[in-house]
Amino acid sequence: MNRIKFGIPGIPTTVKKDGYVAGVNEINRLGLEAFEYPFGRFINASKDTAEEIGQISKGKISVSVHAPYYINLISPDKEKINLSIDRIIKASIVGDYSHASTTVFHSGYYTSLSKSDALKLMISSIKLLQKKQIESGISSDLRIETSGKPSQFGTLEEINEIYMETGLNFCIDFAHLHAYSNGKVNTLEEYISVLEYIKEIDEQLLANMHIHYSGIEYSDKGEKRHLPLDESDANHIDLMKALRNMNVGGVLICESPVLEKDGLILQEEYGRN
Ligand SMILES: [Zn+2]
Repeated sequence: MNRIKFGIPGIPTTVKKDGYVAGVNEINRLGLEAFEYPFGRFINASKDTAEEIGQISKGKISVSVHAPYYINLISPDKEKINLSIDRIIKASIVGDYSHASTTVFHSGYYTSLSKSDALKLMISSIKLLQKKQIESGISSDLRIETSGKPSQFGTLEEINEIYMETGLNFCIDFAHLHAYSNGKVNTLEEYISVLEYIKEIDEQLLANMHIHYSGIEYSDKGEKRHLPLDESDANHIDLMKALRNMNVGGVLICESPVLEKDGLILQEEYGRN
């Protein structure tokens, strides 16, 4: 039976000011089992801090990295693609200092590109990224995240294509799938069908998934902002059921604004199944 480790992106709210090391200690004390560096605007962990987190998390906390948001691997400007690759690589290097399992990234915006041109360009950018990853000796893996809005690259079908062409793994953000579809992907059947889709891509993927989840506000243009579970329409109870029923393993990062509160709610609900 596979199992999921639950965690949060960043420092628990109660020790917010005390930095990453205190944050990871608190995550451990709370009984959560995963931590993700939230490098939203910039990479704000030093090598020393990252190495210390590598030490204290060993055998207890699964570490991952969220690369900075300013990434567009399908930009019409080649220089922007190179800068984006650099940012992902720099984030992964910090992850490696902490023995992170993975670095998750948002891949980009279509701008004026057609979907098929965007896919072609994304495949070539990802291949460049993978080459850089090998050259830099990075041992953690990379994952492309499912997008929260139609203007951003990253539908389930697109990440499937990327996986087929490049072998790049992915992060499924169930809140993004829910927002992108303007309210779908929120029932047991819908969750199961997403997981069945992944199982068909490659059965082994379910045993080692990287998942993001929270409540979310959305419109027909997709994601607006993340919300606490109890202020949203998130059906987390059935998501936990679906993950159990489909024998999913790996890590789930709860991206709710009330971080550890909702992380613990998800963990407890999952344990009930
Ligand atoms: Zn993300």
